[in-house]
Amino acid sequence: MIALRAGSATDVGLVRANNQDHLLVASPLFAVADGMGGHAAGEVASATACEALADAWASAGAPSPEALATATRAANKAVFEQARANPEMRGMGTTLVAVALTGKVGHECLAVAHVGDSRAYRFRSGALTQVTSDHSLVAELVAEGQLDADEAEFHPQRHVLSRALGVYEDVDVDLSMVEPFVGDRYLLCSDGLSREVSDDRTAAILGRSADPTEAARELVAEARASGGNDNITVVIVDVADDTTEPAGDDGNAPAPSEADEGGDEPTAAVAAIDDETDRDAPDATQAVPVVSPGTTPPPAAPTSAGAGRHQRMVTLRVVAFLLALAAVAAIAVGGVGWYARSSYFVGLSGPDLTIYQGRPGGVLWFKPTVAAHTGVTTAQIEPRHMGELTAGKTEPSLASAHQYVSNLRAEEQAAQRGLPSSTLGGGAIP
Ligand code: MN
Repeated sequence: MIALRAGSATDVGLVRANNQDHLLVASPLFAVADGMGGHAAGEVASATACEALADAWASAGAPSPEALATATRAANKAVFEQARANPEMRGMGTTLVAVALTGKVGHECLAVAHVGDSRAYRFRSGALTQVTSDHSLVAELVAEGQLDADEAEFHPQRHVLSRALGVYEDVDVDLSMVEPFVGDRYLLCSDGLSREVSDDRTAAILGRSADPTEAARELVAEARASGGNDNITVVIVDVADDTTEPAGDDGNAPAPSEADEGGDEPTAAVAAIDDETDRDAPDATQAVPVVSPGTTPPPAAPTSAGAGRHQRMVTLRVVAFLLALAAVAAIAVGGVGWYARSSYFVGLSGPDLTIYQGRPGGVLWFKPTVAAHTGVTTAQIEPRHMGELTAGKTEPSLASAHQYVSNLRAEEQAAQRGLPSSTLGGGAIP
């Protein structure tokens, strides 16, 4: 029979003013939430999510994977309602990653539910495997092959979540199932750990600290030593064989003192599966593929229930639409620019006739520029052209602008000699 032993730690980090992360250790249910929102809203969101999750799970009856997904949706609703009721909390949200032991004794299954970029990892035989896929813009671009992992790490929008709890009335919850294997260690964490500490370092710490509380504290210390740029929250859940654990009063619960003192949250950190699991839970574990324990640990991550597919497609459609919009905007700006720059006009710069490239007065932010100084002044042309020169006389090319100026000059010279202006060619003079 399986028993779970847990340890946890949370820390504000070195940069943030407050800790907006929240954790839940209420065996057989464990969770980490990373809240976001101005002022206190992020803290409210993550705490509300954890409380609502625990309440919904407690009232769900049989512990099944579906009950965990339902409890996660209840947590979403609770945060959403709270944001709706408090204008100063509008827009708050939170990530949530939760793991729960479900199923009947002998057929236990660990259910992992998540929304956002807080993660669950499995540590088995010295190897660390990420169980969850981040609901973030860059993670989805990486999954689609549009970004590689290195680009994602420094992407300016790496913090943008594609899904969060409490933002909309309903949320798609990703649900995974893993068959627990004695000796497995599960890690739930906020991005304050996963962004600061490499998987290799995390694996090394998980491998050397047998006590889950000690391991959790070491991971937090490592994240602080690596910069501590965000709040750091860690919950570690060890899968043990309860025949090797000290028995509690009811004969199958380990003594709670062991890991309890370690967690920074005042929740029970140690428990075994209690009588709840003996009830006839709906056998949801059989409905979804599970990872078989076997003698050699399976390399693949647990299967996802596929709930994220639709959301991902929506996200891609939005991205495609935005790209199309950007392309249209670029073409429009290019077109305006071409229009603005494609003609010339003759205008006045003080007494000098000057040829400008552009449109008289400019178009949007495309201002005319001087294309040529003609060397002709207003004193050398007929005064009746002053009006159109002041407004700017548009010509289709630089050559025709020059032609117009020489026509003005020729007209004035002809007038000086008493010839009619109609004998002049060029046609540019009205
Ligand atoms: Mn965070």
